[in-house]
Amino acid sequence: MVYLDLTDLGLRSGDRHERTYPLDLEPVLLGGVEYEILLANGVDVSVDRVAGGFLVTVAADAKAYGPCARCLGEAVLKVRAEQQEFAPTARDGWEESEFSAFIEELVVDVSGLVREAVVLALPPQVVCSPECRGLCPQCGRNLNNATCECAAQEVDERWGRLRDLRLEDGSGS
Ligand SMILES: [Zn+2]
Ligand SMILES: [Zn+2]
Repeated sequence: MVYLDLTDLGLRSGDRHERTYPLDLEPVLLGGVEYEILLANGVDVSVDRVAGGFLVTVAADAKAYGPCARCLGEAVLKVRAEQQEFAPTARDGWEESEFSAFIEELVVDVSGLVREAVVLALPPQVVCSPECRGLCPQCGRNLNNATCECAAQEVDERWGRLRDLRLEDGSGS
């Protein structure tokens, strides 16, 4: 866990603090499935001392590793995670809901903030490739490596039913 105390930075109005922190994140859950998160270049944190408080920005290139939501094969997804939060030096005049959930008493929970940014940057479904053909819903074969006859058979059955209907119609009139 990485915490940053904004009051320790000794920033004066208009000053900026910039630093890159190495950071390990816990896996994130997407649709009930765990994805490992790797921040190979760490997280870039910048703090600007602005009127009334601090502007905290985190940015990181993240890689998510886990199963493809369509074919269950290995998927690696790269995302750019960025988030900015404002921390007022005086709490007067601010609604409770306006405070960042990751900054308390001017101490930034960098890990929590980056984790949130990564979760928001990830798509609702991680896939191995946008073209992934997924698994056949009937025989379970991975359609990226093999073809199956299920789809063709289903069409045959529909035609069969249609033919039966026509026969019934014919016999009724
Ligand atoms: Zn896939
Ligand atoms: Zn099939």
